[in-house]
Amino acid sequence: MTTANELTCQELIELVTEYLEGTLSPTERARFDAHLGTCAGCRTWLEQMRRTIRTLGKLTEESIPPESKQELLQLFRNWKKVS
Ligand SMILES: [Zn+2]
Repeated sequence: MTTANELTCQELIELVTEYLEGTLSPTERARFDAHLGTCAGCRTWLEQMRRTIRTLGKLTEESIPPESKQELLQLFRNWKKVS
């Protein structure tokens, strides 16, 4: 199943706070899940994210500093080059 509105890895990262808080709209949630189904990199990253949140006990904006988002995006780009 493909849709023209498929999320990119960058969009997924931008939406992860809402996803984990359960505040995504049903449409966004479906797109998020669809991307996870096709992107092993994001699945791994989300798993790490959940582990971090479990450790911290909560999710705050500070949990995902902008610098770390940039690092992750760089990481994704590198993965795509390799695979
Ligand atoms: Zn992805």
